[in-house]
Amino acid sequence: MASEMSLHHYGKPLVCTYSGGKDSDVMLELFRRSGIPFEVHNSHTTADAPQTVRHIRETFYRMELEGIPCEIQMPTYKGERTSMWKLIPKKLMPPTKFVRYCCEVLKENSVKNRYIATGVRWSESTKRKSRGEFEKIGKTRKDVENFSTVMLLEDNTSKRRMTELCMQKNTMVVNPIIDWTYTEIWEFIRSEGIEVCDLYDCGYDRVGCIGCPMAGKKRYREFADFPAYKKLYLHAFDRMLKERTRRGKESTWSSAEEVFLWWMEDNNIPGQLSIEDFPEVMP
Ligand code: SF4
Repeated sequence: MASEMSLHHYGKPLVCTYSGGKDSDVMLELFRRSGIPFEVHNSHTTADAPQTVRHIRETFYRMELEGIPCEIQMPTYKGERTSMWKLIPKKLMPPTKFVRYCCEVLKENSVKNRYIATGVRWSESTKRKSRGEFEKIGKTRKDVENFSTVMLLEDNTSKRRMTELCMQKNTMVVNPIIDWTYTEIWEFIRSEGIEVCDLYDCGYDRVGCIGCPMAGKKRYREFADFPAYKKLYLHAFDRMLKERTRRGKESTWSSAEEVFLWWMEDNNIPGQLSIEDFPEVMP
């Protein structure tokens, strides 16, 4: 139905948005089997792990051999190419759970005036039964008139619906696997032999941006596995502090390291030594 509506209203095929994660791989496989015309789109976040970027490129290569149009879109901000590391100094603060400006710029800004499909799924909640089947998404309260919560397209909450409308971007959204459980996703992947990102074999249960504030304490492992990304964040925080000073903004942080600890919700004092720094005294 979404495909028919896309062809009818937009005059173009449905867009399968693809992040390189397992849910995207399942959705892409359903698209392949459906027989509908579709395009695949990935927003390059600049903070994805190398394994995720490689998986996206390999998947797109296979899709294009099947004649399916695929696009990897580089992010822009105010008309210029951008990245997570450029955005942080511009926004004067690190992205947080509550201020996810990065998602808005790096992931959500790309497909406009189209009917798109996302791989979001409901989190376990009984609240999902309490709302209707159709929902509006937007950035401001005005955008989502008569709807009390503002969300981003990436959000996996119980408030998501099978079919949605983004007022800001004139975009319609269908979430075909919204009611799939975690177990159903993995059973489908295993039984159908679907290739997924290598990171899942390394014990990761999500493969989004390294250091995503939504990942909470899981970021400690991410930065242990990908120390170069920690350096990129520290450099970005350093440039952010300089930019704050240049613009006359007060800061409670005195160094990039302090910003990093605050951002990681780590209560240690900067420079404090950890017992792990002295393996010779470890039992
Ligand atoms: S997934 Fe996380 S880190 Fe990546 S753009 Fe979205 S909020 Fe930011």
